[in-house]
Amino acid sequence: MLISSLRCQNTKTIDPGQYKHIVFFTGAGMSAESGIPTYRGRGGIWSKYRWEEFACQDAFDADPEKVLKFHELRRETVLACNPHAGHDAIAALEKKHPLITVVTQNIDGMHQRAGNRNVIELHGSLWCLRCPYHGISEDIGKKYQRYKCKKCGSWLRPDITWFGDMLNQDVMNEAILSIRRCDLFVSIGTSGVVYPAAGFPRLAKENNAQCIEINPEANEMSSLYDQTIRDTAGKALPELFG
Ligand SMILES: [Zn+2]
Repeated sequence: MLISSLRCQNTKTIDPGQYKHIVFFTGAGMSAESGIPTYRGRGGIWSKYRWEEFACQDAFDADPEKVLKFHELRRETVLACNPHAGHDAIAALEKKHPLITVVTQNIDGMHQRAGNRNVIELHGSLWCLRCPYHGISEDIGKKYQRYKCKKCGSWLRPDITWFGDMLNQDVMNEAILSIRRCDLFVSIGTSGVVYPAAGFPRLAKENNAQCIEINPEANEMSSLYDQTIRDTAGKALPELFG
């Protein structure tokens, strides 16, 4: 009975034209489908490397070169992978719909590579570097173009959220504003149990948004959604939006 009702939900397609503002909220599962190693969990990067040595401000202050080289390795791994059909479905939608926002926990830039332009990166980007005095600069290569700021000579750190870092409040506010205003909220490949992400479906609900979850596994937030699809993004998204 349960299985047949889930199957029935899986086949329900959506007309994006019925919604004014669609927000896609994506997490690690979205990237893992492209073959990008996840950071947390079993087999994740933090089970092989100690984050204390590679992903916190103290590690960077102690040995910036070692930390930067580690992040170059992450870039190379990402560049060896490609966006999947789920990324492509969201990118295609942005081309024909006036207001699509992607809010992502991922730092790998896969949505942009698929073609999305309106992407809010909650944890920053592996493709951006930050000077403590001169702000953020983009650097799109396998290897970093430079390790130090050309204006002041300070070490440039990856502009991503490391352990012990605060989330960028401006970026978070932008995400919250989008989610508050959307009328369709689609969560993909994230358990969403950690705040602030845990609050997102409730925010969307306050605006009476339709809420859909795409995730092969259920989690404790699943009951908040109007529709849950227990499938991969690469399969579910093209089906959902026809
Ligand atoms: Zn500088």
